[in-house]
Amino acid sequence: SPASGSQAIGSRITAAGVIKRYGSFLAADGVSLDIQPGEFVTLLGPSGSGKTTLLNLIAGFQKPDGGAILVDGKPIDRVPTHRRGFGMVFQSYALFPNMTVTQNVAFPLRMAGIDRATSERRVAETLEMMRLSEHAAKTPAEMSGGQQQRVAIARAIVMRPRVILMDEPLSALDRRLRESIQIEIRDLHRTLGSTFLFVTHDQGEALAMSDRIAVMDAGRVVQIGTPTDVYRHPVNRFVAAFVGESNLIEAEILQRRGTTVTLKNRSGQVFEAESRDQIDLGRVAVLVRPERIAVSAEPGPGAMPATVRSALFLGEIQRIEAELESGERVLIRCADTAGRRLPDPGATIWVSWGSEDCWVLS
Ligand code: ATP
Repeated sequence: SPASGSQAIGSRITAAGVIKRYGSFLAADGVSLDIQPGEFVTLLGPSGSGKTTLLNLIAGFQKPDGGAILVDGKPIDRVPTHRRGFGMVFQSYALFPNMTVTQNVAFPLRMAGIDRATSERRVAETLEMMRLSEHAAKTPAEMSGGQQQRVAIARAIVMRPRVILMDEPLSALDRRLRESIQIEIRDLHRTLGSTFLFVTHDQGEALAMSDRIAVMDAGRVVQIGTPTDVYRHPVNRFVAAFVGESNLIEAEILQRRGTTVTLKNRSGQVFEAESRDQIDLGRVAVLVRPERIAVSAEPGPGAMPATVRSALFLGEIQRIEAELESGERVLIRCADTAGRRLPDPGATIWVSWGSEDCWVLS
């Protein structure tokens, strides 16, 4: 039974060419996604990209107009939401206001007809896991937002579901609280072994929490990969710009050796970059992340001159905006070190990067 033992085994979730229309608008435009048992996958995308729609289709709140959703290989379109047995957490905590924390968390067990002794043990164990034991007798109104969301999470996991769906659960909380609950959710995922599907529009949150990130744009999954893969090797300009800060430099590929290419930028400077296997010669945009650009006050091998437009001291880093000879602006984030002066606007600096610091977008 799902209510025995504290370790759940995660299910595999597959979306196969899922389509959802609202009138003539395609909110899910043939979404395919294969989430492995026990994996933590985040749907990341801008507002309106279809994240909630996809989550709701998987939860069963809505029916797809095409394609299929499978759990452990079996189609579930005929299984109603409450029979899917998924744990769910929403941005609004959706707790029962007249019930205590204990009663809120015990609710799913009561609905499932679990006996009192088992239920009490399970609730105590779950409250302990979410560090809520001391609040057991309080009602939601007597608790902070962060505590209420931890109660909502406790209620979602009390049945030890094979799948836990979370729709922007932390977006109502302030940054510090969000970061501490992010760590709790990660730990919880490790403890439970359930499959987690998490929705956010916050790229930092997605990078910090996920085994894999599915980046969504206009009703499609445009890239799925590990956080480092999505950040370092985005498939296109949209992903490059949405996940992290990006500098895009226009260039022409002159030569290719395996995944390393030689390029020339608009002002004729030649440099190397990494790319995927199948890249054609021709014009491309090259991504260089702000923290991968080295800055020097002196010219050096492979360095390009740039004119400082603005320079800010931000504590642990300096944030510099500079203009290359090509006229392109680059943002630079470099560590603040003892010997480094903040450059003045108008000054010339020398910027450089290695081939492993830049990535060709196809
Ligand atoms: P957000 O981060 O703003 O929640 P999202 O990526 O979760 O965005 P969805 O909520 O899935 O996006 O919405 C996708 C698109 O579908 C949006 O353009 C939205 O306006 C539209 N949409 C969603 N639900 C409905 C509905 N019930 N009727 C009509 N259009 C809808």
